[in-house]
Amino acid sequence: MPQTVLEIDLNALSHNYDYLRDKVAPNVMILAVVKAYAYGSESVAVAKKLEEKGINYFAVAYASEGVALREGGIKTPILVLHPQIENFDTIISYDLEPSMYSMRVLKSFIETAESKNKEQYPIHIKFNTGLNRLGFKDVNEDEILKYITKTKAIKVKSLFSHLVASEDPNEKTFTLSQIETFEKNASKMIQGLGYSPLLHQSNTSAIINYPQAQFDMVRTGIGLYGYGNTQEEDLKLKPVATLKTVISQIHEISIGETVGYNRAHTAAKKERTATLPIGHADGISRAYGKGKGYVMINGKKAPIIGNVCMDMIMVNVTKIDCEEGDEVIVFGKEASAVALSARIKSIPYELITSISQRVMRRIIGLD
Ligand SMILES: *Cc1c(COP(=O)(O)O)cnc(C)c1O
Repeated sequence: MPQTVLEIDLNALSHNYDYLRDKVAPNVMILAVVKAYAYGSESVAVAKKLEEKGINYFAVAYASEGVALREGGIKTPILVLHPQIENFDTIISYDLEPSMYSMRVLKSFIETAESKNKEQYPIHIKFNTGLNRLGFKDVNEDEILKYITKTKAIKVKSLFSHLVASEDPNEKTFTLSQIETFEKNASKMIQGLGYSPLLHQSNTSAIINYPQAQFDMVRTGIGLYGYGNTQEEDLKLKPVATLKTVISQIHEISIGETVGYNRAHTAAKKERTATLPIGHADGISRAYGKGKGYVMINGKKAPIIGNVCMDMIMVNVTKIDCEEGDEVIVFGKEASAVALSARIKSIPYELITSISQRVMRRIIGLD
């Protein structure tokens, strides 16, 4: 039965992985960021495919996302970027590796690990080099080291930081200063620890723009899903997720009739509209209404008319040869998520991660 479906193409994922792998020095490891359902796709299927491809690490935002991967059979190390103290027990029981971003979190994790008689439990230390989001900043590294070196319960597996604007050539000076700050943080830590944890700072755009910042590992999210933050890179990558729906009903609208809630659209001439089973509850923001957004039907753009409803949108198909039951593409391989999201001043990151869990995921390219 035709319906709204998010197709996840594992061959596209494989292509993107190979492309990025090629950009990274052979001895540098790759961490795949699979937070937020693997950027709105399907985290277990994506992680399994990447394991097959030889991925070195995964990262998720929250502990629960790591639990889902473990329950799906994923064995590769998983870094939890934004753990909460309340989840430390879960983190340890599922063999997840927390990022330590503050003294409060670090002290508390050491206590938990000690109380469970853990030895050398892997943790990661996050430095804030300019994003001012999470991480140690302006710290005396000695303070961190004091707590880490007096316990056997933990071991620092990596030191990392996150770039603010690696996709933006106008921010090159700032990015270079972030790289330098991170190198300083890392070298003090390595001295104090007496061993060298893995270092990583690059996200997708940094892999492309700052090869000097690959260190021991790079973290890629958006690139794996097919978006490179520039037109040039987008051409080399393949969108993994394609959002498809179908025409449920076609209406002939007379001049002066209105369409949708609040009568937000009035037909200025005779119009033909198609109603589609996808709405804001599926992740199509209300901001796409009133002509801002569009879908592709038989290769042509059909603008969204009136307000986006919870479960439906109406699109103008006056000039499109189509009928009830025809396939509709919202974004993906044949309809750029970059162009669509730009219509509401958004970015593909937001559009692809917004597709709600109500939308069925169909995995294609399984071998
Ligand atoms: C989300 C995230 C990434 C991935 O960034 P992309 O631009 O999608 O490659 C990397 N590192 C951290 C800390 C993140 O939060």
